Amino acid sequence: MSDYDIAIIGAGGAGLTAAIYAARSRRRTILFEGKVIGGQIATTDIIENYPGFPDGINGFDLAQLMFRQAEKFGAEFAFQRLPGGTFEIATAERTITADAVIVTAGADYNKLGVPGEAEFTGRGVSYCGTCDAAFFAGRDVIVVGGGDSAIDEGLFITRYASTVTVVHRRDTLRASAILQERAFANPKMRFRWNTVVEAIEGAESVERVRLRNVVTGETETIPIDGVFIFIGQTPNSHLLKGLVDLDPGGHAIVDLDMSTAVPGLFVAGDLRTKAARQLVSAAGDGATAAISAEHYLAARDAVPERHG
Ligand code: NAP
Repeated sequence: MSDYDIAIIGAGGAGLTAAIYAARSRRRTILFEGKVIGGQIATTDIIENYPGFPDGINGFDLAQLMFRQAEKFGAEFAFQRLPGGTFEIATAERTITADAVIVTAGADYNKLGVPGEAEFTGRGVSYCGTCDAAFFAGRDVIVVGGGDSAIDEGLFITRYASTVTVVHRRDTLRASAILQERAFANPKMRFRWNTVVEAIEGAESVERVRLRNVVTGETETIPIDGVFIFIGQTPNSHLLKGLVDLDPGGHAIVDLDMSTAVPGLFVAGDLRTKAARQLVSAAGDGATAAISAEHYLAARDAVPERHG
């Protein structure tokens, strides 16, 4: 007999929801996470678009509540990174077997790849406004990117920083209308359109950025104290390579029930190809994957074993 019925890899919104559903189905469930419980929601200050919280809820607090809910129904938790494996899951500490696996490993932040970015990470360069904004009280920072993350986090950073200048490579934002409205109405927010960062410079910490206008070709070096980078994410699909079809962006292509071509292997959340990357849709994915895993196990259990 396997150690567990269902193993879930990644404790973000999708993984935590899958764990709640799987454990509540009375399946022996284990949830693996190598970083932080909640994944991206853990570093989101206020989540305003998850049903049931009309006044919003802090992302870390919501993740803890989801985790408690999964544990209450009997899900086990292992704080371990997973170097590989599907149904035999090998971690640095142990190897377990599971009859079904739900991979909800999420995505990591993209890097600009410009000089100074790696050197000044943690010394003025950040990928998390919620985590680092307080270090920039009374300072001037730029936010790179034009999506929901850039604007959402940029608005949060205005609580501390004197000015937040959004540096975007086009002349229109990708962010949702309500975030755009808030950003344009915020007196601390500035915008540099059609502009990219060419280099991040300084001595001990960030002091300047070199910007280039992609329309005119002009470059300009401006003094700045912080560089927050929000230019999308790359899915953590290395575990799935060779097992599951991936789209050109590295997201897993799965069926409507989150199943893959490998029986018993399911992928849910930001790791899969889909239109919306929201906590609420990740949670929905996690629930769907856990229900599908349950159906898979039940169908398998219903087949009588052949003897002789
Ligand atoms: P995103 O929507 O992919 O936006 C990435 C932004 O970075 C885009 O504006 C893009 O420019 C820019 N960009 C990409 N590569 C770049 C490069 N090399 N140099 C300069 N700029 C670059 O990513 P996201 O904002 O992280 O959002 C990811 C998902 O999470 C989305 O589905 C989003 O809706 C969701 N999310 C939602 C909320 C919310 O609802 N409050 C908050 C955070 C995230 P272009 O526009 O030119 O492509």
